[in-house]
Amino acid sequence: MQTIGRFAPSPSGRMHLGNVLCALLAWLSARRQNGRYLLRIEDLDAMRCPRSYADLILDDLRWLGLDWDGEVWYQSERAAVYAQYEAILRGQGLLYPCFCSRAALHAASAPHLSDGRVVYAGTCRDLTPAQVAEKRRSRAPATRVRVPAAQIGFVDAVRGAYTEDLAQTCGDFIIRRSDGVYAYQLAVVVDDALSGVTEVVRGDDLIASTPRQIWLHRLFGFAPPAFAHIPLLCDHDGRRLSKRDEDLDLGLLRARFTPAQVIGALACAAGLIDRPEPVAAHELIAGFSWDALPRHDLHLPAVFRTPLDG
Ligand code: GLU
Repeated sequence: MQTIGRFAPSPSGRMHLGNVLCALLAWLSARRQNGRYLLRIEDLDAMRCPRSYADLILDDLRWLGLDWDGEVWYQSERAAVYAQYEAILRGQGLLYPCFCSRAALHAASAPHLSDGRVVYAGTCRDLTPAQVAEKRRSRAPATRVRVPAAQIGFVDAVRGAYTEDLAQTCGDFIIRRSDGVYAYQLAVVVDDALSGVTEVVRGDDLIASTPRQIWLHRLFGFAPPAFAHIPLLCDHDGRRLSKRDEDLDLGLLRARFTPAQVIGALACAAGLIDRPEPVAAHELIAGFSWDALPRHDLHLPAVFRTPLDG
């Protein structure tokens, strides 16, 4: 079976180094296996994700020397497809409207997990039709899917065995927001499956989503892909990089560094080369292996610290 990898950025800002590391490792893994590499723009929330940001991502990837195969998919154009899969869940009686506000969700006595996630308390799970009709008068509902008390496990290429009990660590989750926008969890599963993705490489911050996604894959009759959740890049204070770190976005980096410098520094941080010397992405393909990757958060390569400090 041919490997099909993908990079699926959300264009709510310019790519930062953490996104570049993810794009690079996903590309290297796919290319190492002579596989395909797909690009999907996760712009479900069209208000937060203008097309101009997506265009910059495409341009930045070209600049980095990371090519992709086939057409770019834009999630903002695929609501009709997600609706078909929503209908499948509805047909199985798994969906219900949820009227809880954000504030109510956090105030509910549901357990908060150590990583800050809130387990849904099930407040709207068993509303009667009359209650639903009444609530609809004042508020548009989100749509939740009922999860079973099921242990869902997988073996991650980086993290090894990982298991969660859906009911205990997540609870019923949202597949469509109250403003009608489909949720990441549904869209990512439908798109990975329909584009034939066999390998998902993404940041470690998303590992807790994976059991939910594997469950949905199986429910739809898809074979779940393999997963590799990569360590996150941290700045000199040990803070994980985010889109707020504008110093480290590609707009500024492109003005200061060559693509080979950026790739070389990241490849060194990821254990792929011993010294942070300039290297083209394609030169790393032959030696790529998940075994080299550290299992802990990665330090921001020294060469990029200057803009932060100065
Ligand atoms: N769109 C997500 C992000 O940019 C990644 C989703 C995924 O790779 O599954 O963080």
